[in-house]
Amino acid sequence: MSSLQPVRGTHDILPDEMRAFRHVVDTSRMAAALYGFAEMATPAFEFSGVFARTLGDTSDIVTKEMYTFSDRKGESITLRPENTAGIARAFISNGLSNDLPFKAFYAGPMFRYERPQKGRQRQFHQVGVELLGVAEPQADVEVIALGRHILDALGLKGAVTLEINTLGDPESREAYRGALVKFLSGRLAELSADSRDRLERNPLRILDSKDEGDRAVIAGAPLLGEYLNAASKAFYEELKNGLLDLGLDFIENPHLVRGLDYYGHTAFEFTTDALGAQGTVMAGGRYDGLVKLMGGPQTPGVGWAAGVERLSMLLAEPPAEGRPVAMIPAGNDPVIKREAMILSERLRRAGFAVDMAFSGNMGKRMKRANKLSAKVAVILGEDERLARAVTLRDLDSGEQATVSLDRLEETLARMLVNLSEDAFGGI
Ligand code: ATP
Ligand code: MG
Repeated sequence: MSSLQPVRGTHDILPDEMRAFRHVVDTSRMAAALYGFAEMATPAFEFSGVFARTLGDTSDIVTKEMYTFSDRKGESITLRPENTAGIARAFISNGLSNDLPFKAFYAGPMFRYERPQKGRQRQFHQVGVELLGVAEPQADVEVIALGRHILDALGLKGAVTLEINTLGDPESREAYRGALVKFLSGRLAELSADSRDRLERNPLRILDSKDEGDRAVIAGAPLLGEYLNAASKAFYEELKNGLLDLGLDFIENPHLVRGLDYYGHTAFEFTTDALGAQGTVMAGGRYDGLVKLMGGPQTPGVGWAAGVERLSMLLAEPPAEGRPVAMIPAGNDPVIKREAMILSERLRRAGFAVDMAFSGNMGKRMKRANKLSAKVAVILGEDERLARAVTLRDLDSGEQATVSLDRLEETLARMLVNLSEDAFGGI
């Protein structure tokens, strides 16, 4: 393989794709602010223990997917596969537990050694939120409402379905665990090696298996919902009522579990059937045990993460960019080119987006202006230079006029804002 190829499972985000990508992130960031989630960032790598301890030693992420290496001092370092553990680590190391609730939004790259396919990469990006310090289901409702808000704002209202389930409290899960192990032990021969391995250590994890044989067995397994104690049932009812109050449609999926150890009560996913097997675009749940598990004070938490690449792929069309001004020096006269550079800089300082092709004839420069969907061409030739003026051409209508340099900014502003009206009126 040529060393000029990007590493398998990574890819370059070229400008067209970046527009969709940035739209997803910007929309998420703006919505998060509406709900009072402040953006923060943690390092892209942490000591391996941050993930190994918290994600659980039977999770897919820890057993198969982590990018772990020793640094030059022999410290074991891991590129973050997700950001919940990092945020919880930062919450503890920065002593943030006195000011609750703590509400964080993040966006950034994550790294997992997975088999690359559509919607599944080794470096991918997530946006996500974490809400720490609130034990009531209202917090779950709020983070889910924020998720839905973002998806709706991206135009995905009908394309994505909210699925919810409850994993109950530890007592309920313990009761269920016994029943599940009993059931699965009777079907041992049909389970994958991975699942047989997990039977004693973490049988609930088997419910999240993607193996077809496992899935067939799981379809007949007892459901956690039948083992919920009163407190867990009440929590789940409150969650559902809260969602209904806000008009947030959902379906209950009793088979939905999260792949990680620290989840309890609420589990949810926003899914689509437009992306094949990679149908989950946003996933989250409640993790009341995580902060304590990491050595911090007992702190309830709930949050979600969404795959930016998967959401970008769902966008019908990337949002339109602003339309620049094309600066077009007529000919290759160095004096004119110099003037055009100076004028471009003046316009950018005034807030206009200006693109200048550095060389070529008028035709070539016009072609570039069209490709960038410039709205206006500022044409500067010898005549204009002597008259301390430029020719402005409206590239939609083809109309053009000579405008004195003194009036350039105001005229351009009028042309760019007032796209439908006669911008040259009054000149
Ligand atoms: P999956 O079941 O698809 O492997 P997961 O349960 O591992 O997902 P989470 O850890 O919950 O995923 O991550 C949240 C979201 O991040 C996913 O719903 C998905 O949109 C995105 N995501 C996860 N892994 C990848 C990946 N390798 N490439 C692209 N996006 C990903
Ligand atoms: Mg995964």
